[in-house]
Amino acid sequence: MLHRVKLRNGTEAPAIGQGTWYLGENRAVRERELAGIRQGIGAGMTLLDTAEMYGNGAAESLLGEALRGMNREKLYLVSKVLPGNAGGTRMRRALAGSLSRMGVSELDLYLYHWRGQYPLSETVGRLEELRREGLIRAWGVSNFDIEDMEELWALPEGRHCLVNQVLYHTGSRGIEYSLLPWMREHEVALMSYCPLAQAGNLRRGLFENEVLREIAAAHQASVPEILLAWNIRDGHTIAIPRSSRPEHTLQNAAADRITLCEEELRAIDWAYPAPTRKQYLDMQ
Ligand code: NAP
Repeated sequence: MLHRVKLRNGTEAPAIGQGTWYLGENRAVRERELAGIRQGIGAGMTLLDTAEMYGNGAAESLLGEALRGMNREKLYLVSKVLPGNAGGTRMRRALAGSLSRMGVSELDLYLYHWRGQYPLSETVGRLEELRREGLIRAWGVSNFDIEDMEELWALPEGRHCLVNQVLYHTGSRGIEYSLLPWMREHEVALMSYCPLAQAGNLRRGLFENEVLREIAAAHQASVPEILLAWNIRDGHTIAIPRSSRPEHTLQNAAADRITLCEEELRAIDWAYPAPTRKQYLDMQ
């Protein structure tokens, strides 16, 4: 069992879950991807993050196949609605599509993927309807910066937002300056996406960094494991690394056993300093 993160609505989820972007799009590796998801769940990564956007539903369909026959109550299922579907009757239809592809009758968490044209009050109204009807157990947002969160908080039901899913990895720490403290104060959990900087591609040299390599060697672990252990170090964060390979997925689950000491955290701060001023929200 992995460490669990307690959420404001009384539920909890494992600190490391599984992302699914780009999965389910290539027949040739489908069996490997299915095995990875299932083995990851077996290792405790029972939170699955997907979106209607990913492969136009292909990732949700892959999950549907992977989860068949599993105990639904042991899973924490997250999907996201596209901005263009975030209002009117479109959201209900979009959610129905996601549920059908995933083969379940409700989601644990439904996220507004990023802000679009619909007024925020309209989107919150539709999310609340779906929550009251039991089609989603909770809702949250994604790619919201502090001004967006403040706008949300000013709406009567905006404060029901449980999670903000944003990009966060060792090489991109901008949210630590003001967004993350705001979220902690208002008990909005951080779900960090791209926790491995897309295998280091979003921050050149990350996987090869000497400081991270030394820390990894000291823990008999890999650099990706250290990046994940760092990501969830405060006990309130959920990281959602994605892999198409069972061996990587199991390695990612194993990161949960690593606690970085003060000296190691200082060394990482030296290599990748925390922000000293407000930065634009990093996105993918
Ligand atoms: P990521 O998890 O940072 O990196 C994925 C890459 O890392 C893949 O290329 C994978 O390759 C590699 N990898 C995984 N585990 C590894 C390991 N142990 N050793 C070496 N390489 C490893 O990137 P991401 O998929 O963009 O982000 C994670 C998830 O966040 C997504 O899948 C998605 O669910 C979510 N997301 C949300 C948003 C949003 O706007 N809300 C945006 C981006 C992502 P292999 O397949 O070869 O292992």
